[in-house]
Amino acid sequence: MCGARWRDGWTKGGGWNEVSTYVTEISPTEPLKVFTSCYVSSRDVNNWLRSPFIEVGESKSLWVEMIFTMRKCVKHSDPSILQQCRETFDLYQFHADKDFANDDMPKWDDITYSRVDKIPAETLYESTNDILLNTETRFVPLTPGYRGIYFAFQDTGACVSLVSIKVYYKVCPNTTQNYAFFSETPTGKDQASSVEKVGTCVPNSSKYQRPTYRCMSDGSWDIPLGGCQCNQGFEGVDGEKCVPCRRNYYKWLASDTKCHQCPNNSFTDEEQSVECTCYDKYFRASTDDKSKPCTRPPSPPHNVVIDRLTDSMVKLSWQPPQDNGGRTDIQYNIVCDECGDDVLYSPRPKGFNSTSVELSRLESSTTYTVYIYAENGVSAISGREKESFVQYQFTTKRSIAQIDNIHVVEYGETFVSLVWEVLKDADENVIQYKVMHNLKNSQKPPVTNTTYTESITLRQLLKNQEYEIRIKGMTDKGWGEYSKPFLVTPRTPYNGKQDKIEPGPSIVIIVGSIIAVILCMAIAAIMIIILLKRSRRSDGKNPDIDGPYHHVTVPLFQPSGTIKSYVDPHTYEDPNQAVREFTREIDAQHIIIESVIGGGEFGDVCKGKLRVPTRPDMSVAIKTLKAGATDKNRLDFLTEASIMGQFDDPNVIFLEGVVTKTNPIMIVTEYMANGSLDSFLRKNDGQLTVIQLVGMMRGIASGMKYLSEMNYVHRDLAARNILCNESLVCKVADFGLSREVNIDTTDGAYTTKGGKIPVRWTAPEAIAFRKFTSASDVWSFGVVMWEVISYGERPYWNWSNQDVIKAVEKGYRLPPPMECPEAIHQLMLDTWQKERNNRPKFAQIVKSLDKLIRAPELLRKMAKPRPHVFIENSPSDITNFVSVEDWLNAIKMERYRDNFVSAGVTNMDQVMRITVKDLDTLGITLLGHQKKIMNSVQTLRAQLVGPQVHLPHMQMSEGFLV
Ligand code: AMP
Repeated sequence: MCGARWRDGWTKGGGWNEVSTYVTEISPTEPLKVFTSCYVSSRDVNNWLRSPFIEVGESKSLWVEMIFTMRKCVKHSDPSILQQCRETFDLYQFHADKDFANDDMPKWDDITYSRVDKIPAETLYESTNDILLNTETRFVPLTPGYRGIYFAFQDTGACVSLVSIKVYYKVCPNTTQNYAFFSETPTGKDQASSVEKVGTCVPNSSKYQRPTYRCMSDGSWDIPLGGCQCNQGFEGVDGEKCVPCRRNYYKWLASDTKCHQCPNNSFTDEEQSVECTCYDKYFRASTDDKSKPCTRPPSPPHNVVIDRLTDSMVKLSWQPPQDNGGRTDIQYNIVCDECGDDVLYSPRPKGFNSTSVELSRLESSTTYTVYIYAENGVSAISGREKESFVQYQFTTKRSIAQIDNIHVVEYGETFVSLVWEVLKDADENVIQYKVMHNLKNSQKPPVTNTTYTESITLRQLLKNQEYEIRIKGMTDKGWGEYSKPFLVTPRTPYNGKQDKIEPGPSIVIIVGSIIAVILCMAIAAIMIIILLKRSRRSDGKNPDIDGPYHHVTVPLFQPSGTIKSYVDPHTYEDPNQAVREFTREIDAQHIIIESVIGGGEFGDVCKGKLRVPTRPDMSVAIKTLKAGATDKNRLDFLTEASIMGQFDDPNVIFLEGVVTKTNPIMIVTEYMANGSLDSFLRKNDGQLTVIQLVGMMRGIASGMKYLSEMNYVHRDLAARNILCNESLVCKVADFGLSREVNIDTTDGAYTTKGGKIPVRWTAPEAIAFRKFTSASDVWSFGVVMWEVISYGERPYWNWSNQDVIKAVEKGYRLPPPMECPEAIHQLMLDTWQKERNNRPKFAQIVKSLDKLIRAPELLRKMAKPRPHVFIENSPSDITNFVSVEDWLNAIKMERYRDNFVSAGVTNMDQVMRITVKDLDTLGITLLGHQKKIMNSVQTLRAQLVGPQVHLPHMQMSEGFLV
């Protein structure tokens, strides 16, 4: 508040007097100066008194408080006085930019000054002993734009004394509200208006909404609006100031809240913290706000159990982690190393909440290892997400009625007869089968037939079209899965009649056999014709053949059940004649070569298409005779075709025809997508089931059975000469070797005219006496079995041919490869019997393999891995000798037991190191006994290190080794 009490600069415009008087209410002890005007008996009184210049500053209105006395008029007896006597005076104002006024200016009149109000006296005195003070206050709005104001007092006939004049303006005082400071603010220009003041945020706070406060005309503040909030790390006190958070307290938002204590598992040892730090091994996920406790990864899931298990699916459940790390956002991931891309996970492999997962499309009878990971929101940032897992292993069940070894037993232009095997538990009964067939790549729905036996004949098929066949079986346990697709192409049988591939129990086959018997007479006649032809050939005459297409006219089955005999093209004087007789000529224009797939002895082998106008395209392999080949090359090349052309068996490569009329000369055969068996096996090492491997052997054995029944001796049966199609059907191929043996032992290998004898695959009698028979093919087949089981390992590894011959001659036989069923190794050993007549026939081999396929449990017992195996007159395997005594017993030298014991030779390792000199020391001096013992020691050594070490130099005792 600011005012003026008789400051200097008061100016009188006439009539007013300055007097000193006592005013007890204001100043009881000292006289006060007062301005007095008292002209009650004069006429036209017009007395002016003016204040000094008052600077208005930023105020918009002023208050003028006047303390005065006024004498009552009625006391006068003269009526004229009474008439003009006043009991009021007038207050005027004059706005000015500067203090310019003087005695004359502004002019003393009520036009120049503007009147604020007529001021009456509330209390009037009558005697000077009884003077009463009046206080009147007037509000004066200011005209904006002026620096100052003068106030003037006009007396027009009163008896008035101005004791005090106070001029002031009102302000709202400094204040802090909502963490905003509002400085002192003058009130508005009239009494009804207010002034809005904008506040400033107190230190460490920031505005959340413009802080305003209204300054009312009476100098009070009205309701504040908006305001500020204490910054992060600060908390507010009474809306006035912001102070830092204490240690272990934090505030991470600008808000009007208090600082909070650090959440669980976190701390801060500084003041003014915005957030708290997690303890070691505790974390905060990026999605967690700072108010959340710190957490850690969960412990592993536990108690994994199998809820449901079939041959192709498993449902696993588990208990959630015992320690969830303080979080509720646990998720699970499942990793299965052995599961291929086909396996489906439900709900999904990663990031699911349920405590169970279902894996489907698994392989049957397969062991899988899965890892179930538990993760929560901090696993990833902890870097320990790979630590919280449980490992679990399970083995899927064997499929219900798993269909295996589907093969064609009969076919014609529009039908195929199939048989298959079913793998099932002993207590399962197959109720029925569904056989679904469809043209390969066809969009049409497949046709499904039902059968109650393991065979079916599909009819009304399209000739030369490839069909895809799937079979499933139903047992009392339910339906099994459909088998993998089996591909088959109905086509014209080679002899123009339906082809019978293998006599079996089906009615069709029995009927076929009856027909065969009925045709007996005709067959006999045809046989005679054939014999006549052959005798004509040996007579040097040309056979009577017409037209380019020649088929074998002998029916496949003879009354005796044997198949027609193969005719050796070398018996033809003109080998071209054999070509004409046993092959069909293909127009080169019908052959489309697509790519080179291999290199043969005579030229490239290509993949291509046979596009005959009347037939759909067929994939074929095309062997070409390279340019510049001699006539002899040409004949040798075509000889293979004339041999192949005589065969028609599902397990023997099929000759589609030859191109001989144009160059290059070509041999066209069915296409086998998986190429040669040895490379296929090596490429798929360990990938096939034992049943698949045995199924492949069965196919080869069946092809060889056919060939042996045709009296054809292959002489080069080896995995490299077997071809394999996409359904893993194996077919015997490579009829190219000239089979006449020439002995040439210079480099230790026997050679033929056409090249080296495949020593490792060849039976000893064939190597030694050129005695090639189906029985020697059986020996080779045993080696092929060994190749199949060992996924293409080289028989006898890197031994030299000489060592192989010698070892085999001495009774050494290939040991079982890894994971070799004992029954299979036994069958190999049977095929490697020295006495060829003791070897099984191919028909028996097919039966034995069929038996194993039908009862796969017989394949479960694995042969013991042994480094070397001896048969026939060989001593027992070294692995059988557990003690020196056993060994001495075995060689009938037990009398020397004590000699060995007292010399400290107590184990077989020591025996293996013994020399002839040692025997003298041991007291074994008889020459015959020394020889016997040393022979045995050397044999044992040979078993351990391989035959190449000592065999050629060994002195053998009679009857000990072969
Ligand atoms: P070959 O001259 O009969 O030994 O054939 C050489 C290579 O050509 C073989 O090792 C196979 O990889 C390939 N081959 C031969 N015949 C066929 C066929 N019919 N289907 C597919 N590939 C074949």
